[in-house]
Amino acid sequence: MERHIGSCRCGDIEFYFDNDPINSIFCYCKECQALTGSDKWFGLWVSKDNLKFTKGTPSSYTRSGDSGKEVNYHFCGTCSTALCAEVTAGVFYSVSATSLRSNKFAPKMSIYVSSAPSWAVFPNDVPKFDILPPGMGS
Ligand SMILES: [Zn+2]
Ligand SMILES: [Zn+2]
Repeated sequence: MERHIGSCRCGDIEFYFDNDPINSIFCYCKECQALTGSDKWFGLWVSKDNLKFTKGTPSSYTRSGDSGKEVNYHFCGTCSTALCAEVTAGVFYSVSATSLRSNKFAPKMSIYVSSAPSWAVFPNDVPKFDILPPGMGS
């Protein structure tokens, strides 16, 4: 078993998950652009029961996802670091890869490419999907 520990920049919030994520994605949707101030969000998908908060309580913001089900964003109310988005349609968290102390994961796919800005940067040798891979989500 390998434990991956993450935190916000100021240290008020800490969390962990165990073992490898289900998926690791670059998401280029408009919501992720707004959240990051960039072309993409680097998310590690972790099943809901595998993510534990160990310090502090994150602030949250909820919106309706494409599926009509809620997406709950968790962030630090002190330093505003985005920590994860709870995707209720899939019962998983999309954890910010950059909030981990040791980020050894690489993206396995690019999603919502149809929403990417014209200047977006895509990793080489990683499949691109206009929205989601067939059979996943929506
Ligand atoms: Zn913080
Ligand atoms: Zn997104």
